[in-house]
Amino acid sequence: MTSAAADIRYLHESHPQGTETYQIAPGILWARLPLPFRLNHVNVWLLRDPDGWSIIDTGADTKDARALWEALFAGPLADAPVNRLIATHGHTDHVGLSGWLVERAGGVPFSSTLGEWMSAQVRLWDSQSKPAIDTAVRYLTAHGCDADALASYAADRERTQALLGPIPPSFTRLRDGETIRLGERDWEVIVAGGHAIEHASFWCAEDRILIAGDQILSRISPMIGVFPAMPEADPLADYLDSLPRFKALPADALVLPSHGLPFYGLHARADQLAHHHELRLDDLARLMDKPRSAMELARSLFARAVAEGQGRLALAETLAHANYLVGRGRAVRTKTADGRILFGRAVGTDGELMAAH
Ligand SMILES: [Zn+2]
Repeated sequence: MTSAAADIRYLHESHPQGTETYQIAPGILWARLPLPFRLNHVNVWLLRDPDGWSIIDTGADTKDARALWEALFAGPLADAPVNRLIATHGHTDHVGLSGWLVERAGGVPFSSTLGEWMSAQVRLWDSQSKPAIDTAVRYLTAHGCDADALASYAADRERTQALLGPIPPSFTRLRDGETIRLGERDWEVIVAGGHAIEHASFWCAEDRILIAGDQILSRISPMIGVFPAMPEADPLADYLDSLPRFKALPADALVLPSHGLPFYGLHARADQLAHHHELRLDDLARLMDKPRSAMELARSLFARAVAEGQGRLALAETLAHANYLVGRGRAVRTKTADGRILFGRAVGTDGELMAAH
């Protein structure tokens, strides 16, 4: 692993502070918004059109983020109107302020993939829906959560939910493979699954710049999770399937991720991310020496995250890996008479398949 760090080279060793912006390339500004999570920031990109600005992503709906946007409107964005807002995906830290920003900019068009626009809309009413809450409680209980965990995950979910403001009620649909013009450049839309249902990245072939969103991050691995609305989903397969598409782009591309620092080393990073999941899958298969609940597995696989109050996401990530193993015949999912769901290693496998992959 000695070469891993050397394969990634950062464009800047620092990031913009407060209301600062950094110029990434002519006509592309980088701003960084605060997030009230352990992951404490999200990057947004301001692209100068001939007659205004296109904005990519918004941050979560917090007082601090709104204040920072007001400073950006009064500062770097003051010379021309905002033309449009584009979302990489529908997670709270990316679209939390989308409805607000669209109105703040005077009712500008909003662009997103269909899957992301809809999933953000669903999350807004999902949190108020008793059937959805009951389903989540049943799901978490079946996977081994006790009453304390249920209470703390519900509170965690509510805290996150409060950061998702209104989603623009109308939008322009982004489709995979189409080309859009943003800030005097053409960008190919790359729609991929895994982290989100239909996450959009934007590729400028002429200048070899990838606005990667959360699909490829520089230091951390994008969250790949299974949630109560789609308990048998296999998002890890979607995610791993997406990596070759990014490796097909030039190795010297400049990558602009939504978290962390812009970097060079796209191919190496895609390999590292795939390898990271292979190791996780092997670890998880080893932990399945007998049928265990997903929560029990999460406490071993992500001990630190669970201890630090991130149990809900650790469980989601564990289930993503468990469902992947089940889908490939390496693990079996069983249901006990009292409704608990357990994962065990499939008979005849030893959990060591991915190393040769
Ligand atoms: Zn994000």
